[in-house]
Amino acid sequence: MTTAPLRITRVNGSLVEAEPVLGVSLYELAAVGHGRLLSEVIRLSGATATLQVYEDTGGLAVGEPLAFTGRTLSVQLGPGLLGSILDGLGRPLNVLAERTGDFIGPGASVPTLDPTRRWRFQPTLAAGALVSGGDVLGTLEERPGFLHRVLVPPGVTGTVAELAAGEFTVDAPVGKLTDGTPLRLSHAWSVRTPRPTGRRLGDDRPLITGQRIFDLLFPVAEGGTVAVIGGFGTGKTVVEQSLAKHADADVVVYIGCGERGNEMSEVLGEFPKLTDPRSGRSIMDRTVMVVNTSNMPVVAREASVYLGITVAEYYRDMGYRVALMADSLSRWAEALREIGARLQEMPGEEGYPTYLASRLGAFYERAGRARLIGRPEREGAVTLISAVSPPGGDLSEPVSQATLRVAGSLWALDADLAHQRQFPAVDWETSYSLYVEHTRAWFEREVDPSWSAVRAQTLELLQRDAELREIAGLVGPEALQDEDRLVLLVARLVREVVLGQSAYHPHDASSAPLKTFRLAQLAERARSLAAERIRAGAPLAQLDLGPFRRTLIALRDAPGAELSTRVTAAEAALAGILPAEARP
Ligand code: ADP
Ligand code: MG
Repeated sequence: MTTAPLRITRVNGSLVEAEPVLGVSLYELAAVGHGRLLSEVIRLSGATATLQVYEDTGGLAVGEPLAFTGRTLSVQLGPGLLGSILDGLGRPLNVLAERTGDFIGPGASVPTLDPTRRWRFQPTLAAGALVSGGDVLGTLEERPGFLHRVLVPPGVTGTVAELAAGEFTVDAPVGKLTDGTPLRLSHAWSVRTPRPTGRRLGDDRPLITGQRIFDLLFPVAEGGTVAVIGGFGTGKTVVEQSLAKHADADVVVYIGCGERGNEMSEVLGEFPKLTDPRSGRSIMDRTVMVVNTSNMPVVAREASVYLGITVAEYYRDMGYRVALMADSLSRWAEALREIGARLQEMPGEEGYPTYLASRLGAFYERAGRARLIGRPEREGAVTLISAVSPPGGDLSEPVSQATLRVAGSLWALDADLAHQRQFPAVDWETSYSLYVEHTRAWFEREVDPSWSAVRAQTLELLQRDAELREIAGLVGPEALQDEDRLVLLVARLVREVVLGQSAYHPHDASSAPLKTFRLAQLAERARSLAAERIRAGAPLAQLDLGPFRRTLIALRDAPGAELSTRVTAAEAALAGILPAEARP
């Protein structure tokens, strides 16, 4: 009996079917058609495989051959990732552009890491050492000042037979095990498989974002997860980018699936010019970008989030604190929906596949702070901050709902606040953070013992302000007591000067935790002082908060080095919140 040769039997957009398949596994990669287009098996049924093709399938025809590779979608992890800009399949955009003009040619196979570049490797182990996955073999300087730890790939164990210092490319062996297994500066990892870690650690250390409203009111823990949810134009991308620039992380992975076409090219133009204030070097020295180019099929977006998180896990495994921004996961969910529809699966809510929530949950599960496998002992973290863009800003839609079930923190962005240009446009009534209690001790120890008290007073003021504004809407502001009108006045100051923060201000785009704290504390002191004066009989109309307000704005907008002198000036102005006739 002869079997028919393996051929494409159906082409449906970016999906193809092939028959007959034997001994192929789910998620295996194949080269499809005469153009050898990269594709991945996403369904197996009898002798039929369904594959999603990551490249333009125009011209692909039934009857063309295909070849399975025995590999799954993986990324080569090694030095040179920092500073690179990759597409959803791990191909560096600059190399792609050089080879094929601005368009990615079919079947273009381009290595993630530069195969010609040499790295100066310094071993920390020697022949005879017993090693297993995660052990540090040695180090090299990946970027100025950035130590790249070369790891034994997870799953590999043995005894080192040879390990040499010297200059090596990412593919050349730097040594081998006694069983002959070569040791290299890089290794491949299947992007859909989480990299293993040791014990999970607690979420008691905050990731300082540099954004006052988040650090003070809705902190995220290192290893925590945040959903940034808001309708179009509410500032999600600005939040993601501000954090990519300013968050206190060792490494940033930025996954862009922007809504607007020019969004990613703005980022690509801007980031290389920015300096990291902590190191004084280019922000790209700590950044890896994954971008979904518009000329790639939508299914490539589906892969890009896995590529991004795998890279994040790799730097975590070296012992770093990694922050991963994904903008936006709604685009990823839409890719799932499109693939599901082509597969003619039973759709769930709003056409999304029924496994949307479990896929999303599994992705969020890859964040965390953990003790790592291998020696020397070390820990690392991946913090996940992903945007979700519900149509019309309605949080009841499936992607928002599935995200809310797994995220530790919600930063809800509101269209009305954005319209009033209250930025970041965070709705403090809807937003929450499950990390407040656990991170509290850190803030009280590292910033100020009264951090939590000031946080509580700020929230209480905002709460009271919302109630009073509702009442004032009914009875008119004149009907309010002076002390209540004072609340409205100070709450406005808090919204505008303390919580409001321009992403474009040279000195205020990022706010150190101490500055965040001082601004909030000073506003609260102004409120309590003025309230005291009112209780002592001074009418509100005679209390002049103007000079204080100006010193608070000056403090907000000053360079970090001037913090203490600006605080002193604002404190001096506090004393001036007196009835006019009482002034000396
Ligand atoms: P989204 O990604 O939610 O659609 P964007 O992040 O693109 O929205 O924000 C829309 C616009 O809002 C920005 O172009 C900017 O003008 C303004 N904006 C948002 N956040 C800030 C901020 N923190 N400071 C100043 N302007 C902001
Ligand atoms: Mg956006």
